[in-house]
Amino acid sequence: GNRWGIGSHRQPLLHSSSALFCAEMGTRMLLIFELMKKRKVVLLGSTGSIGTSTLKVASDVPECMEIVALAANSSVELLASQARETGVKHVALYDVSKEAELRSALPKDVTIHLGAEGLLEISTLADADMVLIAIVGTAGLQPALAAIEAGKDLAVASKEILVMAGELVMSAAAKKGVNVLPVDSEHNAIFQCLDGHRGGEKEVSRLILTASGGPFRQTPAEELEKVTVEQALKHPTWEMGRKITIDSSTMFNKGLEMIEARWLFGIEMGRIDVIVHPQSIVHSMVEYVDGSVLAQMSHTDMCFPIQYAVTWPERVSGGMKPIDFAELAKLEFEAPRYDVFPALNLARRAGDAGGTLPAVYNAANEIAVDAFCDGQIGYTDIWKTVGQVMDAHQLQGASDLDILIEADAAARVAAKKLCGEGSV
Ligand code: NDP
Repeated sequence: GNRWGIGSHRQPLLHSSSALFCAEMGTRMLLIFELMKKRKVVLLGSTGSIGTSTLKVASDVPECMEIVALAANSSVELLASQARETGVKHVALYDVSKEAELRSALPKDVTIHLGAEGLLEISTLADADMVLIAIVGTAGLQPALAAIEAGKDLAVASKEILVMAGELVMSAAAKKGVNVLPVDSEHNAIFQCLDGHRGGEKEVSRLILTASGGPFRQTPAEELEKVTVEQALKHPTWEMGRKITIDSSTMFNKGLEMIEARWLFGIEMGRIDVIVHPQSIVHSMVEYVDGSVLAQMSHTDMCFPIQYAVTWPERVSGGMKPIDFAELAKLEFEAPRYDVFPALNLARRAGDAGGTLPAVYNAANEIAVDAFCDGQIGYTDIWKTVGQVMDAHQLQGASDLDILIEADAAARVAAKKLCGEGSV
């Protein structure tokens, strides 16, 4: 598959239109707007952190992006107000028990799609050309596969689905000739650093993911056992949903991203590295074989990667502020503490093995994070649980979705057992 071009069928807008450059500014902008295809986007997870940023981007660049459907789990009030504001005619609600409440809050001409089936229905709407997946966890996987099958481009924020089934998702997308555009800021950065590079994967020596290091970057290892949920939820640089914030503190977020990069860019784990960069200005880098490193920089605002994923291959001016380098005091880089945060080495092991192990890594972590948030287990038990579930797992190939779903379910059961029994 064409993983390096990430879908070559959409041609860059300006590549052959040199006459455009010569035109006057006003005429040029007009031409750009005329030529640019407005993307019709289905937004899954609209009420979350990425979802609300996506709606902001849509209102910043209305000439490039129109939201045609929204989906959430159970936040009925917010979903209904988003639907009224955007004027969408299709809304999906996973929690079927709240249908009546949603119905009464929506205009009559809005169709409500319910449950898991509802997510599939809106992901394949004839009127859409892109599905942006920002559902936390793996509930977006089947909708992602359905969207690909229906020929829609994907913009993926939900890293869990690429960790669980990256191989399947990427090969299905390659077969259908649709684009999988990364929204996760690190992968979006790497995508930007690779974009236009014609030499292919053999000219890349490393993908370097940056990590903020989280709130416990400098905390002594022996103090981690006592970490509370409240402390783990205080991220130093990003404001995000609950699960990913905990994952950032344990470095599982970076582990998930290593595996996500492995499938998105079709590169083996040995060429994927992590560097801690506390300021979160450099979002990731690509090192080429000649020793040159390309980096992508911007403020810590998810609107940047969301907008690029939607408007790619064009760049348009939106609502975001560029960096003032004179104001930046410094950019620092340091090696991660692999011995203190085992999530990274566990991810390397899972990504190297492939097959069902990444799904197990992800599923066990989801259960352990929930158990930690519910006060069932301590902070360091999160990675102990994942390690133990991985150790006990019988590796299988990831040839079809059923095998992955089974491995995911079994890992959840095993992790719940460990957390519930207090035997981590
Ligand atoms: P949030 O917890 O803020 O939001 C999750 C969203 O998913 C909500 O809209 C929620 O609806 C919806 N949802 C959950 N389950 C279902 C379901 N079964 N069906 C339909 N909708 C559902 O998460 P984030 O926005 O932080 O993260 C979303 C994804 O993006 C995650 O995978 C995360 O790893 C990834 N990501 C997030 C970043 C960030 O900055 N936040 C950065 C990079 C990646 P409801 O409100 O009704 O519960």
